[in-house]
Amino acid sequence: MSTPSPSRSGADRCPGLLAPFVSADGAIVRLRLPGGRMGAATVGEISSLAARFGDPDVTLTSRGSLQLRGLPDPLPRELITAIGDLGLIPSGAHDKARNIIADPEESLDDLVGTLDAGLLADPVLAGLPGRFLFAVAGVCGPVLGEPWDIAIVDETLPEVRGTSLEGAARVVVDGHSVLVPRNEAAEAALNVARRFLDSRSDPRTWNIRDLPADARATLLPEGTPFVMAAREPPLPGPVGDDLMVLVPLGLLTPEMAAALATSRGSSQGSSHLDDRGDVRGSTHLDPRVVVTPWRSILVSGGADRADELAAAGFVTSPDSPWTVLTACAGAPSCARTDTPTRELARAAAPLIDPTGPPVHVIGCERSCGRPARAHTLVVNPSTAADIVAAQHSPRHEKA
Ligand code: SF4
Repeated sequence: MSTPSPSRSGADRCPGLLAPFVSADGAIVRLRLPGGRMGAATVGEISSLAARFGDPDVTLTSRGSLQLRGLPDPLPRELITAIGDLGLIPSGAHDKARNIIADPEESLDDLVGTLDAGLLADPVLAGLPGRFLFAVAGVCGPVLGEPWDIAIVDETLPEVRGTSLEGAARVVVDGHSVLVPRNEAAEAALNVARRFLDSRSDPRTWNIRDLPADARATLLPEGTPFVMAAREPPLPGPVGDDLMVLVPLGLLTPEMAAALATSRGSSQGSSHLDDRGDVRGSTHLDPRVVVTPWRSILVSGGADRADELAAAGFVTSPDSPWTVLTACAGAPSCARTDTPTRELARAAAPLIDPTGPPVHVIGCERSCGRPARAHTLVVNPSTAADIVAAQHSPRHEKA
């Protein structure tokens, strides 16, 4: 990696990185990916940085973001510059506000991009709390089951797509919605966010649900009551020409990243790991991938790559225990517990029923990473058998 020149300092472009969150096993950097959209080659580059500077596994979060963990504190300048060079932090001031989850369909890419661009263009919106969340979805899209604040639901009819006719989208807030022309939906959603900032009296009010009812009622003046429904998150397997792959425990290993970054269809598109764990190789194509809020990744055009990606460690079929088994970081990464949650989850996986209820293993009541759908929490298990037994316990919880 080249030494940064003074004129293109990543520290200047990524000021938020200068004060990273620090955990028991080092500094943590979260890379927010609006709608989870990115190129597979970029995943490979992020994985290379993780392997070089900290924990080689990149963590997928419940907001479709990526985390580098176990990094030195303070962060090396070379790492800050390399992250800046990836172009994932276009505005340090807005970075914590760029929380957008989205259904993985390509037809939503423009809505995600317009929403992100509008957010970046307004200095006021840099003040949105880091916990504030936008969602962009199709009708009954699975991200609507997540704890968002403002949702845009694309209601454009299939016969209108790709024509010059104007589609429609619904902006949804607190059980109310307005239907607007599709090309005005992002700005309508951002206007709601501006009203949220104006209406809160305490900067610790992080979400719309935390506002008093009379303040919530002013956010969408033309809104009418709207009942929302959401499909279950997609299971691993083919989705048309694409492939949904699950990342067990949300830990993307260097081998997985290398397999993603391998570009099919290119005569030179072969990637591999070098001695330092960096992804090396020539790729002429950069397939679109979408990191989802469910610790999975949609690989565009990947329907016939299931065997190859499974060999790298991805789950590619729906009959895996990892479709219902998740865990927080736990020990030794987190100082709040002595329970090695991930290690115990791995030991329990062969005995978990993939058709049974979801189980989330945690080391303390903070319940990091818990899924939005109904699940059983397993707090501080002593053995893998505790996790297996808990799958069928009556203690179901909804986040
Ligand atoms: S749930 Fe508790 S033990 Fe697990 S990562 Fe969060 S704070 Fe740490």
